[in-house]
Amino acid sequence: MIICAIITFINILRNLMNSQKFKQLTRSSFDSTEALRAHGIYPTSQRLIIANILLAKHQHMTAEQIYDVIRSKRIKVSQATIYNTLRLFVTKGLLHEIFVDSSKTFYDTNTQPHQHFFNVDTGQLIDIKKHLDPTFIQNELPSATLIDSIDIIVRIRNHSS
Ligand SMILES: [Zn+2]
Repeated sequence: MIICAIITFINILRNLMNSQKFKQLTRSSFDSTEALRAHGIYPTSQRLIIANILLAKHQHMTAEQIYDVIRSKRIKVSQATIYNTLRLFVTKGLLHEIFVDSSKTFYDTNTQPHQHFFNVDTGQLIDIKKHLDPTFIQNELPSATLIDSIDIIVRIRNHSS
């Protein structure tokens, strides 16, 4: 009986701490609730936590990086929830998914067509500011096909000094 009461008290305390950390995450001017609703996504507390980390500014993050940020703030969100939420955000057009290789997928807050540099030394994905016009590919298409999407990733490395 006493143990149950202690466990309940600990759980209440943990939820309170999570909600306070969540409030700290939501103090930015970015309205994540509105962003989710605008894309037909019901704003659960865990979706809002992920949205606040990822969507408040333009950036590219992996699921692992998001998980690390959440863990560093001592908020409880499972890796499965993060992956499911990211998949939902991509499906609803809130994020663009970029496959760098079989083990690295980035989630890009810029959903407009654009190309990237991937630095193999730092693991960083960077937008190419100048828009590369990929229409030259149009002439090379196999017959009876059309372009569905174009992802250009230019792999770079640091100069060795
Ligand atoms: Zn990008």
